[in-house]
Amino acid sequence: MRNNSRYLIRLDDACPTMDATKWGRMETLLDKYGVKPMIGIVPACEDKELLCQQPDPDFWGKARNWQKKGYAIALHGYNHVYSSNDGLKGLNPMWARSEFAGVSLDEQRKKIREGVKVLKENGIDCEYFFAPSHTFDENTLEALRKESNIRIISDTISLRPYRHNDFIMIPQVVSIARTLPLTGIYTFCYHPNLMQETEFEQLDSFISKNQSSFISFQDIQYKKFGGKRLLDKLLSTTYFLYHEYRNKGKN
Ligand SMILES: [Zn+2]
Repeated sequence: MRNNSRYLIRLDDACPTMDATKWGRMETLLDKYGVKPMIGIVPACEDKELLCQQPDPDFWGKARNWQKKGYAIALHGYNHVYSSNDGLKGLNPMWARSEFAGVSLDEQRKKIREGVKVLKENGIDCEYFFAPSHTFDENTLEALRKESNIRIISDTISLRPYRHNDFIMIPQVVSIARTLPLTGIYTFCYHPNLMQETEFEQLDSFISKNQSSFISFQDIQYKKFGGKRLLDKLLSTTYFLYHEYRNKGKN
């Protein structure tokens, strides 16, 4: 089934200890089709699950190269450690675990300040943010306002981007690339560190069939979007009810 949907790719959990082989594989795959993803960099990773190999001394060189190629670079938290269980009370209540939601504004400001500093010291400017485990709250936005120029968030349930006060929220609804029944702007979210061969093959095949529907984050005309539409509000309410029902007892 074909419709007028547009697709974006987001890659989570880039850091010096990422699985460089799998990331390289993903980069080659996307470059083959000229697809420019968003890459979420963890500036000071302390999450043991992201310890896939010894730190790559050339990681920041790779990151600068992504930036040069026109990939969108996002600040993906600070240390990627979940210190809070208040994610379900935040703006995108996917999970309880959170590095940000429920954490004091001072602490969140420090994380953003330090994170932006690490990226800057390594020659990376970032215009986007998304939080570990998709969970953040109004204080995260306030911290971004106070400590950075970032005003675009990737992570909300909606069919198209919308304005939330002075921020633009870009939807991220599904992870695996696929055709969906409702027309929208979809961000497919991949974690290259965890990907298996079949997932690379599936993504390659999907892009080859839908190449003209892929856009980059720079292609989005952010100024044209207004507040969240009623349809999107209904969609997100339904989504979170279903998500809660399906994941009862999980975190
Ligand atoms: Zn992450």
